[in-house]
Amino acid sequence: MTDGNQCGHRSDATVHDGDNPELGGQGSGPLTKPLWLWPVYGFALTVSVVSVWGLLIHFALVPPPYALIPSLNLLEPDGLFVDWQIAAISQDPALCEQVVLSSPLISAERVNAMPEREGCGWANAIRLNAVDNIEVNASPIDCGTAAAMALWLTKVVAPAARETLSTTVRKITHFGTYACRNIAGTPWRSVHAKAAAIDVAAFATSDGSNLSVRRHWKGKDDRARFLHSIADGTCRYFRSALSPAYNAAHHDHFHLDRGWGNTCK
Ligand SMILES: [Zn+2]
Repeated sequence: MTDGNQCGHRSDATVHDGDNPELGGQGSGPLTKPLWLWPVYGFALTVSVVSVWGLLIHFALVPPPYALIPSLNLLEPDGLFVDWQIAAISQDPALCEQVVLSSPLISAERVNAMPEREGCGWANAIRLNAVDNIEVNASPIDCGTAAAMALWLTKVVAPAARETLSTTVRKITHFGTYACRNIAGTPWRSVHAKAAAIDVAAFATSDGSNLSVRRHWKGKDDRARFLHSIADGTCRYFRSALSPAYNAAHHDHFHLDRGWGNTCK
């Protein structure tokens, strides 16, 4: 009986709307929408809500406990929300402690905050000594950026070294993390001014080789293939990742950052 009544209501509504002069007799009221449209509306609404929620998290406008996403686990495969999970670590010193500083993969220690002055400083940074036995020696580095480094080194760089070079990476050389300066040629502060960027220049491997972006990026051998492969893998974990392919200023390093930009080349 219940099903019959619902069908009866739809039928009545159609007749009623069609007779309503305000609707011009076109039967265009919401009750006359084909039933198959409602799931489409539901899907569109869900996508809209998730998109807005994602933007709020992306721009650090939702405190991590309210973001309703699971914490990152560096030992597990990363999933769909990895960018948001890394952003949450940048925001939350307790999450930094739980995910990064307590990880068996990572050798690191907390660095005292430097309150922001003239657009420079950091609130949640660490000294990153090593990731899974790869020496990094970066300090101060924003904790989310350190988490992105850990993911990139373990899930991209280490496998690429095994597959392309048949060796392991022992140490990375970088040009620095924190620098109180603007983006070259602009009035805007660089992500380096928040210690949320690192300029990676070279990789020392266990077989005694040293691969540098400056000397080996343009080659055609396995070392070049390794560098291009790991550059391609930066985009998943860093928001901006600039290689020699981006411009001449990056001919000798990969600029990797966790700012608000989204440039990957
Ligand atoms: Zn840089």
